Amino acid sequence: DPRLQAISDAIRVVPHFPKQGIMFQDITTLLLDHKAFKHTIDIFVDRYRDMDISVIAGVEARGFMFGPSIALAIGAKFVPLRKPKKLPGEVISEAYELEYGTDCLEMHVGAVPPGERVIVIDDLVATGGTLSAAIRLLERVGAQVVECACVIGLPEVKGQRRLNGKPLYILVEPR
Ligand code: 5GP
Repeated sequence: DPRLQAISDAIRVVPHFPKQGIMFQDITTLLLDHKAFKHTIDIFVDRYRDMDISVIAGVEARGFMFGPSIALAIGAKFVPLRKPKKLPGEVISEAYELEYGTDCLEMHVGAVPPGERVIVIDDLVATGGTLSAAIRLLERVGAQVVECACVIGLPEVKGQRRLNGKPLYILVEPR
């Protein structure tokens, strides 16, 4: 798909951000490139429009930049999976390991009824820890996680193509 090259080219690599040795994949430049941004949304929409998907669940914060456009185009709901203490209503939480310490994703109770068919979206998958927590959170409320989708995937996790037994769909690798 020739669109993938344009998407890859639009992602800026920032060395040593947020700390020494990290090659940060910056998707804000993809959002500035209307054509490449539209290609990104179009590819996900074409993939998911006929899969009977009722929920797009986006991971804070960069999953929020792709998820709503996809949800609107396929006629699904958008559900934000948020960092702790951001959601005002009753929440369920799922912790996950970071390099140093742990973090947590939260979702409003009742946002996703049992049996809903869900796609989880984020900008990038590295270890898969964040998406695994998202899958656990959704499965705890009885949702069916159909697939996880990311714009960028590290080669290791891309090779697996699965996460917690769920398919993982990735557009490009880091440059
Ligand atoms: P994982 O849990 O798979 O190890 O890390 C993925 C999470 O870290 C995602 O939520 C993603 O937004 C964030 N992340 C880690 N490294 C990068 C990066 O280089 N660029 C961007 N945009 N996000 C990153």
